[in-house]
Amino acid sequence: TYYIAPKFLNKLAVHITKNFLDLPGINAPLILGIHGHKGEGKSFQCELVFKRMKVQAIHLSAGELESPDAGDPSRLVRFRYREAADIISKHGKLAVLMINDIDAGAGRVDSGTQYTVNTQLVNATLMNIADNPTNVQLPGSYDSEPLPRVPIIVTGNDFGTLYAPLVRDGRMDKFYWEPSREDRLEIVNGIFTPDGLSRAQIEQLVSKFEGQSIDFFSALRASIYDEQILAFIEQTGFDKIGLKVANSSEKHSFIKPDFRLEHLMEKGEQMVKEQQHIQELRLVAAYNR
Ligand code: ADP
Repeated sequence: TYYIAPKFLNKLAVHITKNFLDLPGINAPLILGIHGHKGEGKSFQCELVFKRMKVQAIHLSAGELESPDAGDPSRLVRFRYREAADIISKHGKLAVLMINDIDAGAGRVDSGTQYTVNTQLVNATLMNIADNPTNVQLPGSYDSEPLPRVPIIVTGNDFGTLYAPLVRDGRMDKFYWEPSREDRLEIVNGIFTPDGLSRAQIEQLVSKFEGQSIDFFSALRASIYDEQILAFIEQTGFDKIGLKVANSSEKHSFIKPDFRLEHLMEKGEQMVKEQQHIQELRLVAAYNR
C-alpha cells in the first residue's frame, strides 16, 4: 500500500522503456540521474517502481565503490553491468543497474576530500559505458557478442559535485525529485495505512511537521514500536531477552501500538528536539574549528 508519486513513476518508466525501444533517430541517454534532498524517497520509490514494472535491479552502492576491499571499481561497475545485461538477454527480463548515492563516492570534491583515484575511475567508466552501452568489456577478456543496453539509474544529493562531462545531456537525463505537498500527504498516508489514521489526521501530522523529509515520518512510525519493544524486554527481563530473540523460531506478537494522533505529535516533537541537539553540536563544532 506504499504510494508512488505519479511523476516519479512516469519518469522512471519512460526512461527504462525508452532504452529498450529502438526509436529511429532518437538517442536516449543511458543514465537517469535522480537528485534532491536526502530522505525524500528517491531510492525507496525506485524500488517500488521496479517491483511494479517487474524490473530486476542490480545494485551498486557508492560505499562499495570506495571501499578499499572492492578492488578495481571500474571492473566492479562493468561486472555488474554485464550481470544486468545477462538477465536481459538470457532471461528476457527487464533489468537495470542502480547506483545509490553516487555523489557520496564519485563526487565529493568538498574541502578535505580530493578526487580519489577510485572516483575518477568510476566517472570515466560510466562515461565510457554511456557512450558504448553495447560494448562493455571486463579487463582481461573480450566478448565480441554485443550486449543489450542496460539503463542505469543513479541517485544523489547534489550533482553539482559530479564530474561535469558525465552529467552532460546526451549521457544523463536529470530528474530533480522534491515531493509536493500533495505527494507528501499521499506518501505519509501510505506509511500509516495499517494504523487507521484518518485523512484529516494525516494532514494535521504533515502540517505540524512541515519541512521534515519523508524519512522523518517513517522513523516516527518505527519509534512508536519502541515502546512496545521496551515493554516486551521488561517483561522478559533484560538478562533473558537474548535467549528469547536470537536463534529462536518463536513468533512474538505485540498488542496494537498507540497510534493516536496526540501520541504521534508528541513523539514527533521529541524527534525534532533530537535534531536540534545535533544542529547545536554542529554549530559548536564549527565555531571551535
Ligand atoms: P533518498 O533516496 O531520497 O535519500 P530514501 O529513498 O532512502 O530517500 O527514503 C527514506 C525513507 O523514507 C525510506 O527508507 C522509507 O522508509 C521512507 N519512504 C520514502 N518514500 C516512501 C514512500 N513512497 N512510501 C513509504 N515510505 C517511503
